Amino acid sequence: MIEPKKKVSKARRNKRHSANSFATAPTLVVCSHCHEMKESHKVCSHCGYFNGKPVKAKSE
Ligand SMILES: [Zn+2]
Repeated sequence: MIEPKKKVSKARRNKRHSANSFATAPTLVVCSHCHEMKESHKVCSHCGYFNGKPVKAKSE
């Protein structure tokens, strides 16, 4: 088993977690199809388009 040499102190651990926060707000971009705000690299929740193509059928 590979073991860490020393126990990481709470201060050191917390410093690391605060430096590269894992809980960041999603990056929002303007949808190229409906021009609404959507999450980057995700299917638009408003029109269901991704990369100019319909991915999921619009529920009406
Ligand atoms: Zn859209």
